Amino acid sequence: MKIGVLALQGDFAEHQSMLEGLGVQVSQVRLPGQLEAIDGLIIPGGESTTIGKLAVDFNLMEPLISFGEAKPIWGTCAGAILLSKDARRPQPLLGLMDISVERNAFGRQVESFEADLDVPALSESRKGEQRPFHAVFIRAPLIQEVRGEAKTLSTLPDGRIVAAQEGHLLATSFHPELTGDDRFHRYFLQLVEISKAETDPMAGVVE
Ligand code: GLN
Repeated sequence: MKIGVLALQGDFAEHQSMLEGLGVQVSQVRLPGQLEAIDGLIIPGGESTTIGKLAVDFNLMEPLISFGEAKPIWGTCAGAILLSKDARRPQPLLGLMDISVERNAFGRQVESFEADLDVPALSESRKGEQRPFHAVFIRAPLIQEVRGEAKTLSTLPDGRIVAAQEGHLLATSFHPELTGDDRFHRYFLQLVEISKAETDPMAGVVE
């Protein structure tokens, strides 16, 4: 399995080391052709307007949309904004997930904060026991609306949505690459494995 990290701007290096820690082959993606060699892609946090502008300049928008229609993409923070259909102001978006986001939704005083989240999808034992996921929010977007096939994965205690999934697409408002807890990365790798098995009948066959 090969995972790409979109390396136009933002904290792609942190995702890369998290994945390498899990023994996964990782490549940095800056050019459309580099998408061909990977099974899943992470779009990191950073500044969504900058990442979007660079993606337009590098002719990556259409290739990224086609990639996301077929294969898993996980967007963290700015990456989640790029995956959305609507960010309530004009900027380049991939529009792959049926979610709307509000950028910098948490206001000036609390631009950055941390919270313990319940994420039922991450429960590891058969009994569904789980420890909370400690999440770091940095000038984070809020997922305002989840529509159609998109589902909420996690909310803040007050009900505001901070993680969503639509099939093989994943969006988190926060930064799992910064806390050393690799459960979200492993969850994404599971989505990649499932999608690979669906599209490649030889996947899992030992030569
Ligand atoms: N505020 C940034 C944006 O709107 C996102 C911040 C982040 O990725 N940590 O794109």
